Amino acid sequence: MVKLPELADPVRSLRGVGPRMQEGLAKLAIEKITDLLFHLPMRYEDRSQKKAIGECHPGDRTLIEGVIESSSIVRHRRAMLLVVISDGSGLMTLRFFNFHAAQARSLSRGASLQAFGEVRAGARGLEMIHPSYQREHDKSEKDPFLTPVYPSTEGIGQASWMNLTTQAIKILQQSDKELPELLPQKLLQQLKLPSLKSALLLLHRPPLDSDLANLNRENESFQHPARDRLALEELLAHHLSMRRIQQLQQQRLAPSFAGDKQLKSQFLKQLPFQLTGAQQRVCGEIEADLKLQQPMMRLLQGDVGCGKTVVAAISALPVIAAGYQVAITAPTELLAEQHRDYFNATFRPLGFEIVWLSSRVTGKSREKALQEIVGGAAIVIGTHALMQKTVKFKQLGLVIIDEQHRFGVHQRLALREKGQALGKWPHQLIMTATPIPRTLAMTAYAGLQVSVIYELPPGRSPVTTVAIDQQRREQVIARIASACRQGRQAYWVCTLIEESELLEAQAAENTAQHLQVELPDLCVGLVHGRMKPKEKSQIMERFRQGEIQLLVATTVIEVGVDVPNASLMVIDNAERLGLSQLHQLRGRIGRGSEKSSCVLLYLSPLSANARVRLEVMRDTNDGFVIAEKDLQLRGPGEVLGTRQTGALQFRIAELSRDAALIHRIPTLADKLVADKQLSDALISRWLGNAERYIEA
Ligand code: ADP
Ligand code: MG
Repeated sequence: MVKLPELADPVRSLRGVGPRMQEGLAKLAIEKITDLLFHLPMRYEDRSQKKAIGECHPGDRTLIEGVIESSSIVRHRRAMLLVVISDGSGLMTLRFFNFHAAQARSLSRGASLQAFGEVRAGARGLEMIHPSYQREHDKSEKDPFLTPVYPSTEGIGQASWMNLTTQAIKILQQSDKELPELLPQKLLQQLKLPSLKSALLLLHRPPLDSDLANLNRENESFQHPARDRLALEELLAHHLSMRRIQQLQQQRLAPSFAGDKQLKSQFLKQLPFQLTGAQQRVCGEIEADLKLQQPMMRLLQGDVGCGKTVVAAISALPVIAAGYQVAITAPTELLAEQHRDYFNATFRPLGFEIVWLSSRVTGKSREKALQEIVGGAAIVIGTHALMQKTVKFKQLGLVIIDEQHRFGVHQRLALREKGQALGKWPHQLIMTATPIPRTLAMTAYAGLQVSVIYELPPGRSPVTTVAIDQQRREQVIARIASACRQGRQAYWVCTLIEESELLEAQAAENTAQHLQVELPDLCVGLVHGRMKPKEKSQIMERFRQGEIQLLVATTVIEVGVDVPNASLMVIDNAERLGLSQLHQLRGRIGRGSEKSSCVLLYLSPLSANARVRLEVMRDTNDGFVIAEKDLQLRGPGEVLGTRQTGALQFRIAELSRDAALIHRIPTLADKLVADKQLSDALISRWLGNAERYIEA
């Protein structure tokens, strides 16, 4: 007998895994054989029940069987193989866009065929596009289970997934010790949940009589026990690792800052407005934290335009008053520049030094900046360039990170590490305009204190939003033009065509040219990500001064840009953007007293998802409602922008659906936390090499 590989072995020890497949699997973070076991199907299909073609309806996913009536290749832009089958009760067209010559030959008139796929209403009756099929004479035995459909990546077909998971399951079944049960027996019994092994087996190969609707999560409220069990274990592992981080935090020391009354009143006196109640409350919370000898870890949430910048400035006061440094970072150059300009204008008059650092500060000026930072400059502002190794501080007391969700956990921790001096750690304030749904905050940010600003500064009026078809573009242009002629200012936002800054910039250039030609009496400006920072700030300044009436922009204006007089916005191809991006963009208007409107220009036909997004935008201005909806539509990884960085990736749990489980987690963790070995095993099973966070 050949010895089977072990679960801890790399996937390439399985049959059928060559270098290319290994690469593809690695993209899905599948490296070891165990990882395959935790790669679960996204849905299941019942391919055991045949339906008569005459009884099929559009939307059915079903198995049909019949004899080929005709088979033809038609050329319509590209070649297409059309196969029509009949079972006596009706006709079904099978449509293939990609096919080999041999495949076309094998599907000839008279052959018997089984096909499985989604039924659609085609131009000439019912059809299936790219169904999976089997010819009568190469039909194998029927699967004795529901057919799993695995999430995949380019180049790995469902047949490969079947092959790989079948091998992994065999190893699992033959080894008893390799994948130990970590949850206490008593707990599983109490919650009526299956063991790890049986849960995995069931989810990969559910028996034919399993509850298909629940496995496919068609029912919102009910979850399958096998899936629940895995989700619970995963959430528990994440929670335990967060507690570790928290414990370490509490053992750390930070400089304590008592505050300086005189400096604060000086600062408040020069403000052109009164702080709102919410701003005062949040400032109070932060000031209290800064007095402690533990490092603050506070998340400040507040919708776009609620006035977080001034809160950041007030938080800096006790720190710089004590001679310590404050570092402020933002994810884009434009946003960081705005902070630089604001802090320059507010703190220079009070006698504090501001240093600017971005990746575009090079050569002599970079050296000068680095020296000033290590020399103790009070306020240091920049992009992620501040997180690089060469940047050293004299004594960093507070790190402020704006728009946290754009940064990964690593970057955040990197900056904090710089502050570590003489055994003390800097305080940290994280600001985000993407309101984080409560369920997500509980999990992703366990260990952070949270402050929320619900209130907008007085005198704001909500933005009216409409969605309009591109076909009526000319009308929209005419309306915007007439508003601009009456002294209003407008943004025209061009969105990403592909993931390319270059293409986006070109689209914006074209749009700006067209608009300027059509509206010769108006001054049309252009700002995009590929312009030099200096050009960008000049354009923004001219817009702020009212010299430019219509500003064509790429999504670079998404965060932070503040021009209160701008009260109109058109978002081109709004159907391409996610909810939070749309909300951020729209937050640029509605800042002055003028009534503001936003036009979402879309290209039809809209996908179902895009339609919901536009409807949500039209119906509400409430960032929290939008964020919850966004979480439902997209999942947490994308909401937090961490999908790429892997900072918060759940393999099984879904925060939007698993609320009931999430609420159980803290109590369960209380019971298990004392068992260090068990926590270690759970954390390493689900977070892998995430110990590096814990050490950070
Ligand atoms: P965000 O929270 O999106 O970063 P900003 O800090 O940019 O918001 O503030 C948006 C605008 O609101 C700025 O023009 C700011 O000067 C103004 N602002 C902030 N606080 C108040 C307030 N209490 N009263 C009036 N205007 C305010
Ligand atoms: Mg801001």
